[in-house]
Amino acid sequence: MGKNSTIIIAGAGVAGLTAALLIANRGFKITLLEKMKSIDSSGVGIQLSPNATHVLAELGLLEKLEAASIAPKNIVIKKGSSGIVLSTFPLVNFMLERYGAPYLVLHRADLANLLFDACNDHPDIDVQFNRKIEDVAMHANGVTVMALNCNGQNTGGNPGQTSEYLGAALIGADGGHSKIRTAIVGGEPAKPSGDIAWRALVDINKVPKSISKMDTTLWMGKSGHIVCYPIRKSRFLNIVAITPSSSATEIARGRCKTDGEALFNFFAKWDADIVQLLKTTNEWHGWPLNQVEPNGNWVKGATVLIGDAAHAMLPYAAQGGAAAIEDAAMLAKSIGAHADDLPLAFIDYEKIRKPRATQIWQLARTNRKIYHMGGVAAVVRNIVLGNSSNDQLYKRFEWLYGWKC
Ligand SMILES: Cc1cc2nc3c(=O)[nH]c(=O)nc-3n(C[C@H](O)[C@H](O)[C@H](O)COP(=O)(O)OP(=O)(O)OC[C@H]3O[C@@H](n4cnc5c(N)ncnc54)[C@H](O)[C@@H]3O)c2cc1C
Repeated sequence: MGKNSTIIIAGAGVAGLTAALLIANRGFKITLLEKMKSIDSSGVGIQLSPNATHVLAELGLLEKLEAASIAPKNIVIKKGSSGIVLSTFPLVNFMLERYGAPYLVLHRADLANLLFDACNDHPDIDVQFNRKIEDVAMHANGVTVMALNCNGQNTGGNPGQTSEYLGAALIGADGGHSKIRTAIVGGEPAKPSGDIAWRALVDINKVPKSISKMDTTLWMGKSGHIVCYPIRKSRFLNIVAITPSSSATEIARGRCKTDGEALFNFFAKWDADIVQLLKTTNEWHGWPLNQVEPNGNWVKGATVLIGDAAHAMLPYAAQGGAAAIEDAAMLAKSIGAHADDLPLAFIDYEKIRKPRATQIWQLARTNRKIYHMGGVAAVVRNIVLGNSSNDQLYKRFEWLYGWKC
């Protein structure tokens, strides 16, 4: 073991790619196995708060990240039924001045490609696609990982054959439905939350004039909410609309493309701007939202979980990706401190990391309650929001955005 040994990472999502860079920088060799044939270029937008962007800045990626991103001016919170503005919180300069790193929004594929390019340029990182991890054996020398060659064309391997990889340790960054969690570490399968996220990208020229193209906007209403923000040099507006899964049971079973009829029905009586905005496209992706309780085990011997594999959360604090980046930073730090004893490094990481990851996970749940209030509770919420100063609000989130590794 020790520096120069190889650590295997399962999954080339934001968690796996960031961990690869940070751990390789500490003198380890990385083999990153990804089951897909390339970096996921589908998907839509992602918001990255300062607790995440400061990690990417330390990796020397801030300039490229900013070039691919937009820094929204404000978060504008509106009443879903009428579109009345309840509150406006400044983002762009405020976040930078307060936390020393920017709040950015960008296309997920741009983030993933930026991280992947940095991995590709790193002499100690080997990313292999079409490698689906099927089994792991733990032994005195670390781990042997068995991965199915999903497609021989890009990899030189024979499709359907299994390759073996020997590593000093394995990092499970294989997402919410992590096989490493359920089959190796012994955790529970992800649980459906009962909500569906409907996602779409809309040509900015089709967006109703009354909807800001420079801000992140949040509309709150009974049992649902909508978030939108501009991406890709403001050519598109990214929309995420949340409804209960009962309004789209057919989608609750898995991601799929849909014309969004159930979505339109749910929001039919909301503010006219929203109805108009949702009708600008009929290409929606229904995304059932699952959660992984963060209180399960994250470590078994020389295997450890990070990102959604450890604690998939609701996206209502826009923090799942940020928490995955934080995990990667904390894990790299623990590995740096215990380079000769990776199982100890993993225990150290789990101990330090779990309370904060749990706090973020809970925040997302609390936001669900707040955003989806109806009746008197919503009236009280709106009054409190309207009377909160920027300073009061940011003090509440100092612990979140002000985090540094
Ligand atoms: C609607 C929505 C909006 C969101 N908005 C935000 C936001 O604004 N800000 C934010 O910070 N977060 C947001 N999130 C959360 C964020 O997307 C996730 O938390 C983040 O992508 C998790 O990254 P990950 O690398 O842990 O997992 P994933 O991105 O799921 O990556 C896992 C990777 O592992 C691979 N894999 C799986 N199994 C295997 C296997 N057996 N062998 C090899 N490879 C495997 C997968 O193909 C995948 O590439 C949002 C989520 C949703 C659903």
